[in-house]
Amino acid sequence: MTVPAAPVRQAAAVAENLTKTYGSGETTVYALREVSATFDRGQFTAIMGPSGSGKSTLMHCLAGLDTASSGRVLIGDTDLSGLKDAAMTKLRRDRIGFVFQSFNLVPTLTAKENITLPLDIAGAAVDKEWFDTVTQRLGLTDRLGHRPSELSGGQVQRVACARALVGRPEIIFGDEPTGNLDSKSSAEVLSILRGAVDDFGQTVVIVTHDPRAASYADRVVFLADGQVVSDQSGLSADDIYEYMKHLDGGAGPTSPHTAPTQGR
Ligand code: ADP
Ligand code: MG
Repeated sequence: MTVPAAPVRQAAAVAENLTKTYGSGETTVYALREVSATFDRGQFTAIMGPSGSGKSTLMHCLAGLDTASSGRVLIGDTDLSGLKDAAMTKLRRDRIGFVFQSFNLVPTLTAKENITLPLDIAGAAVDKEWFDTVTQRLGLTDRLGHRPSELSGGQVQRVACARALVGRPEIIFGDEPTGNLDSKSSAEVLSILRGAVDDFGQTVVIVTHDPRAASYADRVVFLADGQVVSDQSGLSADDIYEYMKHLDGGAGPTSPHTAPTQGR
């Protein structure tokens, strides 16, 4: 009898025993304590946790923008710790997209020029068909000739998304990508990220404090005090809200479904 093989999910990114400290001796701050997490290809993950729990540090280490004190990060099967500066820069440019909360567009360039800026700097070709797909989905088609001062906050953040998507990165990292947006613009940006996963097989990892934003994700990884305290799939915004309330209350690791706020 042949046992069918379990579907193999490939990792887009792996954090392996990441520890990150600041300072030394009695004043040592642990931003991350032996954090391990795997981010599968074609999956949308939200990282949540109280302020200071290590979310940004984890994301920056994963994206090769910061280095852990110990442990390692893999993007696909590339170990970031083995990379020299030039190779790291190339990997970030070719394989990773970033969407951050405060995104500074170059004021003198048009939206279109801002979107293709990283590719232009790298001397890389812009895939016109893909550029059109991305900007159409983001509703930016009639805004491409406008300068940032002529765009709304939501449009600026959509330009930021377009910049992250236009190079077709394997993985897109966002640190509070909807942090400055009203709920309508926020929903638009999240739908775009959801579409990057569902329609184009990309991998998305965002840090957010907003349960509604996190509910767009397939999975939520909760951090507290530099550790992963829960890793759950299929949570509703309400589940997430309740669990965050529980974490902010300073209780220990419990899964969302068994959190005291859920009826115990
Ligand atoms: P979060 O994004 O969850 O709010 P961070 O990853 O920014 O948390 O920070 C985690 C911990 O590391 C916090 O206690 C923070 O004060 C500390 N930290 C972050 N960056 C530095 C730094 N450059 N120097 C000292 N401590 C830092
Ligand atoms: Mg942060």
